[in-house]
Amino acid sequence: MSFFPGVLDELIEKFASLPGIGTKSAQRLAFHILGMPEGEAEDFANTILRAKSSIHCCRVCQNLTDRDVCTVCGDSRRDHSTVCVVADPKDVAAIERTREYGGVFHVLHGVISPMIRVGPDDIRIKELVDRVAGGGVKEIIMATNPDTEGEATARYIARLIRPFDVRVTRLAYGIPVGGNLEFADDATLSRALEGRTDI
Ligand SMILES: [Zn+2]
Repeated sequence: MSFFPGVLDELIEKFASLPGIGTKSAQRLAFHILGMPEGEAEDFANTILRAKSSIHCCRVCQNLTDRDVCTVCGDSRRDHSTVCVVADPKDVAAIERTREYGGVFHVLHGVISPMIRVGPDDIRIKELVDRVAGGGVKEIIMATNPDTEGEATARYIARLIRPFDVRVTRLAYGIPVGGNLEFADDATLSRALEGRTDI
């Protein structure tokens, strides 16, 4: 039995349905919204609606954009023959933050995960293969996470791409910057050895 008015309960429930938000946080957020000036709350709600109606996937790379083709795909100074494949739009942001990468992206929107019934057709693999088949791609960099699902997805895609004359590479793994060899797990350490480079 709740002591709050129905609509407040509803608002708390909405917040609690968001990832990573427990009941206590949901209550705190709901009360924060209630304490906002009318205009600010309206602005908040409108931003949700505007984001929802204007953001969709880029026709080329499937990253989120409010244009037909995103700013990365529309940038002629970038190397469109190198495509970095990531699971999530947040990974694009992470790689862009390094300012090291001059190629373009492909966002899968997930990884293959039989445990939660995500198959190859549930993520944007077909779009990637069509893109490669369309020509112009010389290298695919598989940048999915180095966990079981990420590895399986990378291998699955590499197999699909094999018939095309395209180099498929995987991000090197290693010891985190500032890390300590002594505390690195065996898998990380052996991967780091495998992926060693000249200095
Ligand atoms: Zn794009």
